[in-house]
This record gives sequence, C-alpha cells and structure tokens, in this order.
Amino acid sequence: MDTKLDLLMQVIAQKFRRRLLAWYDAHARGLPWRANGDPYRVWLSEIMLQQTRVAAVIEHYQEFLRRFPTVEKLAAASEASVLAAWSGLGYYRRARMLHAAAKIIVREHANKFPNSEKQLRALPGIGRYTAAAIASIAFGEPAAVVDGNVERVLQRVAGKRLTREELWETATALLDQQRPGDFNQAMMELGAVICTPRAPACLTCPVIELCIARGELAATTKSAPQKKREIDYALNYRDGEGCVREVFLVQRPRNASTMAGMWELLELTHVNGTSVALFTLKHSITVTDFKVRVWRGSQPSHAKGKWIPLPRLPKVALTGLARKILRKAEML
Ligand code: SF4
Repeated sequence: MDTKLDLLMQVIAQKFRRRLLAWYDAHARGLPWRANGDPYRVWLSEIMLQQTRVAAVIEHYQEFLRRFPTVEKLAAASEASVLAAWSGLGYYRRARMLHAAAKIIVREHANKFPNSEKQLRALPGIGRYTAAAIASIAFGEPAAVVDGNVERVLQRVAGKRLTREELWETATALLDQQRPGDFNQAMMELGAVICTPRAPACLTCPVIELCIARGELAATTKSAPQKKREIDYALNYRDGEGCVREVFLVQRPRNASTMAGMWELLELTHVNGTSVALFTLKHSITVTDFKVRVWRGSQPSHAKGKWIPLPRLPKVALTGLARKILRKAEML
C-alpha cells in the first residue's frame, strides 16, 4: 500500500479505537460475565451466547454457575445433570461439547485453562470466534473476533459487503493491541445496541464520522420465513408413592439428530376430536413456529417412559418445550 494511504488508514483506525473504547467505557452493559475476566466464566458465557439472546442467557448462566462453579465441578458432573442445567437454552450439542472440553481441561491441562487462541481451538466446541473471544477477554491476547454483530458493523463502516476473509482482516487491523478484550466486546456491543440490523441508531453512534454507510447499507442477511406447525402432547400425571405427584415423560432416542437423550412429554399422533385441550402455547425452534396443544392423558399402555416425581424434575434433562409446558402446568 502507498505509504501516505497506509498512514491515513492508521490514523483512521486509531480514531476508531479511541472513540469506540471511550463509548464502551461509559456505556457498557453490566452483564454478569463481565464482572471479572475468569476464563471459565468467559468461556461459559460465549458458548451460551451462541445463537441465544443475552436476556435469555443471563438467568441460565447464573444458575449453571451455581451448579457448576468451576471447571473441575463441571468435568466431574454427569452428562444428564449438565443437560438438565442447560435445559431451556436449546442447541444441546453446545452443552455436550462444553462438558467434553471441561474433562479435557481437567485431565490434560491439570485444571489450568489453556491460555492461547491456538490451544483453545483444540478443545471441542471452540471455533475461531470463541477461541479469539476467550483469548482476548480472559488473557489479553490480541486476537480479533468476527460474529454477526461485528460483521454488520464492519460492512457498514466500510460501506460495502466484505468477504469472510476481508472481515477477519479488517477486524484484525482495527483491533486495539493494548485492550483487545475490551475492543472486541465493544464491537459486539455496538452491533447489539446501536448498529442494530433494522434500525441503526447512527445519531448516537460513537464512530459515525468514520462510517461510510451511516445506516444505509441494508441488513446483510434476510431471515427465512418461519414455517408453521401444530403439535399435540399428552400431560400424564398421577399421585405416586406417598401421594407425591408424578408426571410421565419419555426419553428422546440417543441417536436423535436434535436433543438426543433428553426428556419430553409424550407426543400424540392422534387426538380425539371431541376432547378439549388443557391449554395451548406457542413455541419456536429455529425456523418453525409451533402451536402446541396439551391434552390431559392417562397412563399410556404402549409408550416406554418413566413416571418422574415432580420434586425431581429440576434435575432432569428436559427439552425446552417440555420445561415450558410443565411450567405452564405449574408442575415446575
Ligand atoms: S454510523 Fe450507523 S451504520 Fe455506521 S456503525 Fe454507526 S450505527 Fe452502524
């Protein structure tokens, strides 16, 4: 690159960093995982935040930490209890990978969290983005991140679509070498609260003077239209031993493509047309919106499942929908 142009780019990058970090210092949301740079907490929050909104993560994050406060405790836990604590967050593969990685950290790294992006990427469930996020936030390694929020900010600041590699190169060129963790979090925060997909609040944006699009570059991805489906479940309950109420649940197959091994209510393929549902609720999974009808059932003769006492439910790995139904029925 021409030396003058190179110098100009460096000045712009410097201004960008200064303004972004000053804004972040003044306006960063007080999220629980930002309280300290503990790598276990940073890792847990980053995995939970993949494909899940911040508001939904906060409650689960705190409860998960209460059950598994350290990587050792997580490694020593049974898979069922990890899945139970993850219940409601969806994408359960993340929980299985988290558990597998915890065991490796304890077994092969003597409980010490790997402290470089390269080592982190060798762990299950940790890709380029997550490794860079943990390395920069917990260990101060100058590794840039690109997630959906950062991508949108970069495309708009540059005023054009950038290829995947260009995105990583630009994020790396902009990265603040002294405060890489704060810079990465500031970029993600800017995308989450100011440079939002539909209505970017450019007038309050700290980098407006350095941005080419200023809100005019449309959101990069069009979300696919949601499919609609109706689905029926049986809520079977009875008074068991000692008059403790029990609910009948079935386990999804171990080789199911989603939520393998988790527990749910019995799905009904056929409903008596004259019956009235106990209640209905809405539930969305990725691209499908479900209308869920829940019917009072009696002990099913054919289904393989288990009667589970209600006090035990918090320890059972329930699917998100089962949890929602049981909460609505005031059993959980
Ligand atoms: S000026 Fe507008 S479009 Fe540009 S980065 Fe800021 S919020 Fe996004």
